[in-house]
Amino acid sequence: AESVSPTESNGSVDKHVDDDFIIEDVPHLTDFLPHLPSYPNPLKRSQAYAIVKETFVNPEDVVAKNIIVQKDSPRGVHFRRAGPREKVFFTPEEVRACIVTCGGLCPGINTVIREIVCGLKNMYGVDDVIGIQGGYRGFYSKNTLNLTTKVVTDIHKRGGTFLQTSRGGHDTKKIVDNIQDRGINQVYIIGGDGTQKGAAAIYKEVEKRGIKVAVAGIPKTIDNDIAVIDKSFGFDTAVEEAQRAINAAHVEAESMENGVGIVKLMGRYSGFIAMLATLGNRDVDCCLIPESPFFLEGPGGLYEYVEQRLKENGHVLIVLAEGAGQEYVAQSMQAFQEKDASGNRLLLDVGLWLTQHIKDHFTNIRKMTINMKYIDPTYMIRAIPSNASDNIYCTLLAQSAVHGAMAGFTGFTVGPVNSRHAYIPIDRVTETTNTVNLTGRMWARLLASTNQPSFIQHSQAERERVDRQTIDAIHNMIINST
Ligand code: ATP
Ligand code: MG
Repeated sequence: AESVSPTESNGSVDKHVDDDFIIEDVPHLTDFLPHLPSYPNPLKRSQAYAIVKETFVNPEDVVAKNIIVQKDSPRGVHFRRAGPREKVFFTPEEVRACIVTCGGLCPGINTVIREIVCGLKNMYGVDDVIGIQGGYRGFYSKNTLNLTTKVVTDIHKRGGTFLQTSRGGHDTKKIVDNIQDRGINQVYIIGGDGTQKGAAAIYKEVEKRGIKVAVAGIPKTIDNDIAVIDKSFGFDTAVEEAQRAINAAHVEAESMENGVGIVKLMGRYSGFIAMLATLGNRDVDCCLIPESPFFLEGPGGLYEYVEQRLKENGHVLIVLAEGAGQEYVAQSMQAFQEKDASGNRLLLDVGLWLTQHIKDHFTNIRKMTINMKYIDPTYMIRAIPSNASDNIYCTLLAQSAVHGAMAGFTGFTVGPVNSRHAYIPIDRVTETTNTVNLTGRMWARLLASTNQPSFIQHSQAERERVDRQTIDAIHNMIINST
């Protein structure tokens, strides 16, 4: 990296011409269809955008992945800023868009569907939008649905997905055949990590066939485990709705002697919902997430902490993510390897497991009477409509996707990177998942708030104790042998 230092006299600002300024760009239709004609964006003529002074995003604008950079350090990865472009590669009349939703439910899916339909119509004058029903398999096994602004007008007030969803059934060839047969040229795919991998496969097949089809992914995961983007839609709603379950468990626990409340929340591989639902509440005594191994017995273990809280406070409240402690629950490897239609490993219910173990420990070993209340609100949370902040977020996602597809970008996903919406190559969001950083500040804030055992420190202490014993033993050996 070449850097130009300020001259001492004029005190000008540092300027860095950096080799480490990386742009991870998304594909464009003209990459494989170079002779595609472009058209002036009709957006300015739309009522909504006639008033916007700088209607179009500067094509050079990028969004930085790392927002905190040290002086002279590489500025790293950047993504194309999302938004309307001056030139589009589809005329409104030629667009035939389709929307499909796959994977599990999440608050906000219907808002995204609605805003894609309304965005295409109200910003670009596109009338032809169809809904693929029942996930990927719907491309080749079900009738499509005509999506007009009238049909979708109030679907955002309902939970679930208006288009229905499914797992499995991704057959790239059959799907792309169907896209061609139906004359579809914009594909909007809403779904989680598996769905986005499917979207990448569709994009690659489309490129191979050299057909003019833009493929846009809208990442969906209630767990907030999608890499690169700030957070996923429905996550705020889930954290908020989780409060109702936590509050109920707290009321139950504090209303009885030695009340133990346990709430299991979503989070197969990452504990974001459990972590933020705990931080958003002040009654939780302990939060258990997949990233942080815990143990039950002995000093610094969960039993000891539960007993301490019962003695101090009369009740205890535990929030745990569904993926926490799976190593304990997976007694039988066979159960551990059971998979669903999409090939995801089926998790065993750690909530029931923990409930039973705490009950057994206190009843049989500690001879204490405890009152256990276990709540699993998963489906109650997943099924609700999105809250206001998620609705706003979903609108931005949908409109960004529409602008991107109209501008001819393809093989991209949309999402906020440091609060600015960007176009991100699909592969980039599926290659890794986002997990809670146990050495990061947010988890430290949680530990400081609940004052629960960190388990890590204890296992370190345990290791040090063992090390010390070994050292002592060696010492003794040396002493004895001399
Ligand atoms: P979530 O995990 O949040 O419920 P998801 O999108 O990960 O959402 P899955 O059931 O794993 O949910 O996948 C959804 C769809 O994507 C399914 O139809 C599945 O067949 C397809 N899919 C999953 N993984 C792949 C893959 N590697 N390649 C192509 N298609 C895939
Ligand atoms: Mg998944």
